[in-house]
Amino acid sequence: MRRKDPELLPSLLKDPSTRILELVAGRVNVVELDRDLALLLRSPGAQDASRLAVFLGQDGDGTAYVGVVGDSPGPLETSQWRTLREVGALLSDRDAGLFATMQGLANWHGSHTHCPQCGAGTEPDQSGWIRRCLQDESEHYPRTDPAVIMAVTDDADRLLLARSPHWPEGRLSVLAGFVEPGESLEAAVAREVLEEVGVVVDQVRYLGNQPWPFPSSLMVGFTSRAVDPTLHPDMEEIVEAVWVTRGELREMVRAGRFGVSPTVSIARRIIERWYGQPIDQRIQ
Ligand SMILES: [Zn+2]
Repeated sequence: MRRKDPELLPSLLKDPSTRILELVAGRVNVVELDRDLALLLRSPGAQDASRLAVFLGQDGDGTAYVGVVGDSPGPLETSQWRTLREVGALLSDRDAGLFATMQGLANWHGSHTHCPQCGAGTEPDQSGWIRRCLQDESEHYPRTDPAVIMAVTDDADRLLLARSPHWPEGRLSVLAGFVEPGESLEAAVAREVLEEVGVVVDQVRYLGNQPWPFPSSLMVGFTSRAVDPTLHPDMEEIVEAVWVTRGELREMVRAGRFGVSPTVSIARRIIERWYGQPIDQRIQ
């Protein structure tokens, strides 16, 4: 694999055709193209040679993409420097993928500066895809933590929506949670729903997935059906839980009492799949 070539990054950082994605304090530079947003990529500069850099991949035409972590020059012009949460859903698949990969790797590098085995310092290797211990040379790889996110419907085809305590009043979404060691994805869906709202589910079916590098998750989406619709929110992770019909959701959106997360697009996809059509993004 090209990542293992120690000369790959140094040579790409000297090649003006290399496209650089610069991440500064969790933000990247974006530009508006027609009505869409795109990453503003640039050629390598002299300053990039001393920065944390990762090889993000290569197009069919040979264009190579490298991510670098830049230093914050001060307050960033926030209309152009945007976070993945803000723009992830507005970028093309390629750009969202580059941003999510860069964000995930940067998070990982930032929190794995020391060896978990001996405590010595580590340094990046293999074009930014591993860290190596300076003392015992052990290799450490970035991890991805699976999380499940699920639609729960009842026999009347109502959708379960719920609110976390740190969300503002009126913001509701589908349930989600991390997969525990030794657990299947389907078992995680059933456990999370039971723990958070006291509902037993069956018919757990896979729907789709989305990388979510905050800090390093893969959100795996499911549908499921409640065996009994009686709700008992745990009042810790979930402080409000309701069953809604499509008509009730429409009214909530109209009255401005419901905002689907604009960036966790899998949550939106799950809700819209049940709803049967897109929910107007202007109403947040
Ligand atoms: Zn070590």
